[in-house]
Amino acid sequence: MSELLNTLQQYGNVDTDAVLQRMTTFRIGGKADFVVYPKNMIALAEVIQLLKKENIPFKVLGKGSNILCSDEDFHGVIIRLDRTFNEYYYNENMVVAQAGVSLIALAYDAMKRGLSGLEWACGIPGTVGGAIFMNAGAYKSSMKEIVTEVLIYRDGDFVWMSNEECGFDYRKSVFQSHPDWLVVAVRMQLQEGNITEIRELVDNRKARRMETQPLEYPSAGSVFRNPEGSFAWKYIDELGLRGKQIGGAQISSKHPNFIVNVGGACASDVMALVKMINDGMQERYGFTLKMEVEKFNWQD
Ligand SMILES: Cc1cc2nc3c(=O)[nH]c(=O)nc-3n(C[C@H](O)[C@H](O)[C@H](O)COP(=O)(O)OP(=O)(O)OC[C@H]3O[C@@H](n4cnc5c(N)ncnc54)[C@H](O)[C@@H]3O)c2cc1C
Repeated sequence: MSELLNTLQQYGNVDTDAVLQRMTTFRIGGKADFVVYPKNMIALAEVIQLLKKENIPFKVLGKGSNILCSDEDFHGVIIRLDRTFNEYYYNENMVVAQAGVSLIALAYDAMKRGLSGLEWACGIPGTVGGAIFMNAGAYKSSMKEIVTEVLIYRDGDFVWMSNEECGFDYRKSVFQSHPDWLVVAVRMQLQEGNITEIRELVDNRKARRMETQPLEYPSAGSVFRNPEGSFAWKYIDELGLRGKQIGGAQISSKHPNFIVNVGGACASDVMALVKMINDGMQERYGFTLKMEVEKFNWQD
């Protein structure tokens, strides 16, 4: 263990016995053996090669804003890019951002430069890398519409992938089928716009989120994907489950597709609510809702 720690420390800062609870917006999760912040691309590649060679489980995390970690400890390595891969550069209306850049920070920076295309992203608390993995989106826009290419690390090489190769669809990308491919940077095409109009749109979106989402509590955003042509929250509402609470987890009374941590929630509390919803769905509608939030470090 200390040999692994010594080796990892060459490549960047390493936290030992780090708590996943503090690395996720749900504020839930056990400990991880190590969390490493690789200094640069070579360090990142070396870390991955080392972990693969030694058969040590690893997981890349952005801001942990779409993750439900189990209450168990993770005996492996968390790789985080948000402290070291956090630069972006403009070339006219094109921006290339490293994977650890905050999507919100980038959206606001583009706004200040009068560049349009990221207004929808100003309330999504993830990284650019996490947004590619999920094809994050809102208000009928998503990463798919602005990404031109994505730099990834896969099978020992750095490769630029085109938008089409990323297989973007509703909250979907090819990276979900290849968890060992790492997003390193993303090139996006923005458009020249009117700064006042962009600001107005951003302010409206922000106000709408504050009004409709329980942002005062830890959560991971929408728990379920919307079924085609409908909204998950409507079904949950029709089941009469608004405000239902198990342990420290609650189906938000403000937005029933959010499960919030009202204090000391365990992962198992959240999953008990998910089960309650899907049991009700099966009984009343004959189908279940698909989770948008990703479960991590669960045995099942
Ligand atoms: C209050 C709130 C509101 C939200 N609103 C929205 C919304 O409107 N629309 C929306 O789409 N989402 C929303 N989300 C969910 C979430 O913010 C997004 O899915 C976001 O894109 C996740 O980014 P992240 O960096 O936090 O990823 P994480 O949660 O850290 O990771 C998610 C997945 O991406 C993978 N990943 C992360 N970085 C990389 C990388 N560099 N390379 C490869 N894989 C990587 C991880 O391994 C994991 O599998 C919301 C969440 C919250 C808490």
